[in-house]
Amino acid sequence: MVHVRDRHWAEEIADEILKQGRGPHEISTGISPSGEIHIGNLREVITADVVYRVLKERGVEVTLDYVADNFDPLRKVYPFLDASVYTGHIGKPLSEFPCPCGGHPSYAAHFLEPFLASLERLRIKVKVHFADQMYKSGLLVPQIIQALRGRDAIARILHECTGRHVEPEWSPFNPICGTCGRMTGTLVAGFSERDKTVDYTCPCGGRGTVSMRGGGKLTWRVDWPARWARLPVTIEPFGKDHATRGGSYDTGALICREVFKAPPPFPVTYEWISFKGKGELKKSKGNILSVHRMLEVVPPEILRYMIVKTRPMRSIGFDPGLPLLALVDEFDDAASRGRDPRALQLAGADQFTPVGVPFRHLVNVVQMADFDLDQAVVILKRNNYPVADAAALKERAGYAIRWLREFAPPEVKFSVERTLPAAASGLDGGQRAFLARLASALRPGMNGEAIHALVYDLAKEAGLEKATAAFEAIYLAFLGQPKGPRAGWFLAFLERDFTIARLREAGRAAA
Ligand SMILES: [Zn+2]
Ligand SMILES: [Zn+2]
Repeated sequence: MVHVRDRHWAEEIADEILKQGRGPHEISTGISPSGEIHIGNLREVITADVVYRVLKERGVEVTLDYVADNFDPLRKVYPFLDASVYTGHIGKPLSEFPCPCGGHPSYAAHFLEPFLASLERLRIKVKVHFADQMYKSGLLVPQIIQALRGRDAIARILHECTGRHVEPEWSPFNPICGTCGRMTGTLVAGFSERDKTVDYTCPCGGRGTVSMRGGGKLTWRVDWPARWARLPVTIEPFGKDHATRGGSYDTGALICREVFKAPPPFPVTYEWISFKGKGELKKSKGNILSVHRMLEVVPPEILRYMIVKTRPMRSIGFDPGLPLLALVDEFDDAASRGRDPRALQLAGADQFTPVGVPFRHLVNVVQMADFDLDQAVVILKRNNYPVADAAALKERAGYAIRWLREFAPPEVKFSVERTLPAAASGLDGGQRAFLARLASALRPGMNGEAIHALVYDLAKEAGLEKATAAFEAIYLAFLGQPKGPRAGWFLAFLERDFTIARLREAGRAAA
């Protein structure tokens, strides 16, 4: 297959979509807010947003929506929930019972609110449809009637596509029991098209009649195509689990055509974002890395860039540990050299001015500055970094600080001790002699490379067998630990008088 490098994948998707008609188009995304919404879900919204931007550029009438599926029932008590509270809510719609913190209108709102705020930070503008409102307002009543009437056709489609045997009492509509509030065990006993009501019985002993306006919900495989037909949706991205043969896209497309008499949307399938060392992060797996937590440590334009630059069907490996530093530097490099301009533009980062300091350096500098952002700027200026925009630099340094607190492995963490560390008492005679020589040999204006070379020379002069003993002496004298950042560079960045005084003190301290 010929791969045209400079053509972005979203252009190819737009070409395919436009072959089928120029719209108006509606791109729909969505998620059931049953727990923290994590960065795997972000791929769906960003993929949709990129296609949206390309269609817009081409003058196509298009909207981007987000269906917050807050009318889905709670399936189980997730590990992050208090079982004594939430066992009683299993089977109830997520919009209809209280949240874990008590500060939100509902369980669903508790998880949706930070996610929708994150979308704003990512500069993704979506029209939000709340599923409970779609039902309660009566918007889906025509589809509920079509589904109840088409019950046998739907049962046949499900059986043919999935092999699943559909029970005689099965219904595409799940009434919410007026007695226990659950919708997972109720059975439909009859319905009235005239009154727009459904009769039900429930395993709890409850029975009654509910309105089609919010008194229940279509089952997932029918709910999805009902939305397609009603909104109507012309383009929908979804994870590869829905795209399997007999999966919910297959059955949805048939139900959409046969029962709702509408064409299914153009499918855009994407791969998961996998977490190194943490296993595949699938939608249903809960709260490993929420989007809003991720945005604490990764600037929004970089999170977007990571997803935009990768074709949807290629997996993205994401590791919030050390590899995150490389991702940030890769982005800065692309932005400063104008590499990959289309991906940068579609990531909303073509106007981005790199801060001029590699992220991995910032991680060290903020630690040398004891997490004081003003002091970090002082250190960088002292070392001739072109600090053009101190505010932008401080903002980026804030990400470095939060990364150190949340995800940094222990080997990159250090702190410069204000007084000679106790560990320095373990230095041997050769190491002390080396430190004393270093104190005398440091000249103003020496850069990291020059100091690095000096360390090697002086280690020999002091009779140390290996240079590692010299480096260890430096780290013990300043950090109280045997390892640390690159020593020449580290010493060059420290304040000179402080450095020399500390080297002298460690060099003469009694064994
Ligand atoms: Zn809450
Ligand atoms: Zn009940």
